[in-house]
Amino acid sequence: MIGRDGGPASGAGSPTLTSPETDLAGVRMTSPNPTLDATSDHGAAADMPMGRGAAEHLWMHFTRMGGYATTPVPTIERGEGSSIWDTNGKRYLDALSGLFVVQAGHGRAELAEVMAEQARKLAFFPIWSYAHPTAIELADRLAAEAPGDLNKVFFSTGGAEAVETAWKVAKQYFKLTGKPGKHKVISRAIAYHGTTQGALSITGVPPFKTPFEPLVPGSHRVPNTNFYRAPQHVGHDEKEFGRWAADRIEEAILAEGPDSVAAVFVEPVQNAGGCFVPPPGYFERVREICDTYDVLLVSDEVICAYGRLGTLFGAQKYGYQPDIITSAKGLTSGYSPLGATLISDRVFEPFGSGSTVFPHGYTFGGHPVSCAVALANLDLFEREDLLGNVQRNENALRQTLEKLYDLPIVGDVRGDGFFYGIELVKDKATKERFTREESERILRGYISGALFEAGLYCRTDDRGDTVVQVAPMLTSDQAVFDEIEEKMRAVLSQAWTLV
Ligand code: PMP
Repeated sequence: MIGRDGGPASGAGSPTLTSPETDLAGVRMTSPNPTLDATSDHGAAADMPMGRGAAEHLWMHFTRMGGYATTPVPTIERGEGSSIWDTNGKRYLDALSGLFVVQAGHGRAELAEVMAEQARKLAFFPIWSYAHPTAIELADRLAAEAPGDLNKVFFSTGGAEAVETAWKVAKQYFKLTGKPGKHKVISRAIAYHGTTQGALSITGVPPFKTPFEPLVPGSHRVPNTNFYRAPQHVGHDEKEFGRWAADRIEEAILAEGPDSVAAVFVEPVQNAGGCFVPPPGYFERVREICDTYDVLLVSDEVICAYGRLGTLFGAQKYGYQPDIITSAKGLTSGYSPLGATLISDRVFEPFGSGSTVFPHGYTFGGHPVSCAVALANLDLFEREDLLGNVQRNENALRQTLEKLYDLPIVGDVRGDGFFYGIELVKDKATKERFTREESERILRGYISGALFEAGLYCRTDDRGDTVVQVAPMLTSDQAVFDEIEEKMRAVLSQAWTLV
């Protein structure tokens, strides 16, 4: 756990923000899966008949498999709207939209029908030198909706591939434009950008990286925008903090050498660490720095695009213009895998003439069924005004979660749109963190399992500080928010008795 062991109790000089990545080696591997942690003693799983079989042959992602040697795997078999059911018929509220994915809700028959129709018509064809209608139509639509001149769309099958694509575009772009030395990437501490080796290199969570080193060279970390743990000298004013955090990017570019830096990768709201929102003025300054040093600004919107913040793209929420947007997850509401990297006219320009090729692609990138369901999903967004629903209800979600501030364990409630993190602390006044042992015992040992047992599927995470995250479907209303708050209150109240 970052900065816990002997780390400052308050935000002063917080290692979360200021340490080089190697100092974060104390971060423990934790499942990015929500409340389900193989080490959790979650009784909910005990009587799940299908779970045992799953553990024998299915290697779950980011999971302590040893914990499932004798414990059945919680197995979800059905979803409808915001609800999911396990194989025993028990209902849970899906307060994480699967994994920040299921924007329109589970069980949308119309999306399933569109997929079946497309599969009957043309199940597969590649977009390698050829095209098919749904890929063309979806690319047109994304280009029209994206901010500014992000007019070229490169499809992949998920987020990490979208990130790989962006970094490779950036590297080749500079080779084509006479700056071949520019290949490095600046990204932020604790940020997660995917697990393929390029995306992992950009990722700022050391325990996810060390087993696979050496990774792709040339990535460098700067502080994120965790205002709750801002260094003391800028901790009193969000704007000042934002300026300070953005200036660290300039500092890194200068330290690495502007002639060697190709891109800055940032999420609109950083997920890992628990929903760090950008301080006012932050992106304005980041854009300015990128322009000064001819560095591409990549907005990694794998989570924040497609309505999560109440706008189609995250950059639109904060009014900045990226050179590249990476996206995936919510584009299809999870009905089929799809990633999309959106590239500006300026960056595409040197690729668009003569015999130049971007030698990169994925067999299943822009899959016809995925593109068809993405189009239907975007239609549904419009028909049901899902962005409007987020805009109308985001304050209600915030206010409902802020009720939890009356619990002694709740230190910070932060986020935007339908994307929130709740940081748990040992001492509210001093912001003291839980020790590693306490986090193991309380977060993994109790809270994870207890939330699920209580019928709330969300995420507990200690890649950075100890947080619980929620990201309800874009269809959600006060009834959903109340259910989240009520279940979380019960579990967090009980957790405090274990501190
Ligand atoms: N970037 C960000 C910001 C993400 O949140 C994620 C996944 N959570 C990824 C990239 C990687 O996406 P995927 O798991 O689809 O490869």
